[in-house]
Amino acid sequence: MEPRRITSTRLIDEEGIIHHGDILLHADGTWSESNGDEDVLETIDGTNRVITRSFQNWHTHLPMMLNRSMGEGLPLMEWLQQSIFPTEKHVTRELIEIGTKAAVAELIATGTTFACDMYHHPDSIAPVIENAGIRGIVCGPTTSWPPSDSDEQDNGEVLKRLETLLGSGSLGDGRVEYGIAAHAVYTCSEETLLRAADLGKRYDAFVHIHTSETRKEVADCHEIHGMYPIEYLDSIGFLSDSTVCAHCGWVTKKEMKILAEKESHAVHCPISNQKLACGGTMSYPAMIDAGVDVRLGTDGAASNNSLDMRAEAKSASLIQRHDHWDATILDPVETWSLATKGSKDWITWDIDDIRLRPLGTNDRRLLANLIYSGGRCLDVFVNGRALRRDGKTISLDEQQAYNELETAAREYYSQI
Ligand SMILES: [Zn+2]
Repeated sequence: MEPRRITSTRLIDEEGIIHHGDILLHADGTWSESNGDEDVLETIDGTNRVITRSFQNWHTHLPMMLNRSMGEGLPLMEWLQQSIFPTEKHVTRELIEIGTKAAVAELIATGTTFACDMYHHPDSIAPVIENAGIRGIVCGPTTSWPPSDSDEQDNGEVLKRLETLLGSGSLGDGRVEYGIAAHAVYTCSEETLLRAADLGKRYDAFVHIHTSETRKEVADCHEIHGMYPIEYLDSIGFLSDSTVCAHCGWVTKKEMKILAEKESHAVHCPISNQKLACGGTMSYPAMIDAGVDVRLGTDGAASNNSLDMRAEAKSASLIQRHDHWDATILDPVETWSLATKGSKDWITWDIDDIRLRPLGTNDRRLLANLIYSGGRCLDVFVNGRALRRDGKTISLDEQQAYNELETAAREYYSQI
């Protein structure tokens, strides 16, 4: 596929270096300077644009767009037991598809091209991600969690279906793959955890789990097993380089060493942790010192309430500086790198958005403005396909997604 030429523009690369001029964006995710005489798909005026890598959201529950702003003000365990779990008993495949579509619309509109998801009925989620053109790892549970009264009880059907999906390979030329979800050590039996880890090994798939999100989870785990959650997971052989551990807010240095040794991934979710008053978030500097691969994620729209990774990046930088009394932690380049780690895709931002001004000499204030002040995402390109152009998403119908969400949310709530 021919590249796109963006003229008189700025591109911020993975090292945070700003390049000025005419730039070619290639379908394979690379970029080069343009001589002006190449065959291109289209030429875009870049004078009002800055090009960056796209955001990568490593912890989501996309269908929970349906639960946005439910149980507002409740602490985590009450929020789960009084608000989230009772509604989820009524979740259907159709509701999951509608919630996912609205969530993907928000991801694209805010410059995110990848989500590592965890939810029920992964085969209702993955096609929505595939059709909208973004990338994903769609992790489904091995048992009927959340508990469902509808079409699936925990009689082995869910596990069988997940195995079929894992064996069916990826979707969208490798853009979307299936993975395995184990909710947490306090909701999964050892048998369920081992089953998830075993599937991960057999199908070479990612295994996604919530770990050490609250102090209570950590204290309870220690009381039951005599070990903290990551030590416990390690003791049963659960951890590998395909394990994605969301939160890691209450983690000992010993556990950080384990994560580093196993090359597991730890996902910082600062907004969800603060909103649900978990009382602790990941210590990013300690994780980096221990050699852990840290990623960033929003969590679901139910606990965040946003899927906007720009806001998550700002929050990560603020909470880490605040917690460690150190204004040098997570500077704009490192913060941007954390939020976009591994991205092969390009997005552009509207430089005429007042939030990005002033630019500073040689645009040196641009990245800090973008993280701390905000910006409007104009274009999103994945594998050479434009998912969004000039501030309008074209790979899915946003208006339809919102309309369906409104109707579905009314139906969902009426069943409680
Ligand atoms: Zn979560």
